[in-house]
Amino acid sequence: MTHDPDCLFCKIAAGQIPSKKVYEDDQVFAFHDIAPWAPVHFLMIPKQHIPSMAAVEPQHAQLLGHMMTLAPKLAQQEGCNPYPEGGFRLVVNTGDEGGQEIHHLHLHVIGGPRPWKKG
Ligand code: ADP
Repeated sequence: MTHDPDCLFCKIAAGQIPSKKVYEDDQVFAFHDIAPWAPVHFLMIPKQHIPSMAAVEPQHAQLLGHMMTLAPKLAQQEGCNPYPEGGFRLVVNTGDEGGQEIHHLHLHVIGGPRPWKKG
């Protein structure tokens, strides 16, 4: 599995840097965002180092599908209210112009009662 020893999120996924874990399996790690925009805000990352959504390849389709199907379950587990009155946002900032600051693919899962600070 690809690992970048200089990548913050690779270190978090490997447990080398502490985080508030939401979920973990053999492919995915999820943890609370350190600077939440909303009452619920966690990040889902692949354990393998994929720098960005701009770097995904067909071989990643199963992994991305796994992340997307997990997201609603984890959102509810973390306290998002049920759809349709409740719900959540999924955000993947991509590249500098897309607002991506950490170059390890991550899915922001954001929810809870509005108003939110950002978005
Ligand atoms: P942006 O900072 O514009 O949201 P990204 O989409 O790259 O850009 O998001 C990186 C996210 O990672 C930010 O929401 C930031 O708060 C979060 N973050 C940075 N360092 C940590 C950390 N050590 N633990 C948890 N979240 C972190």
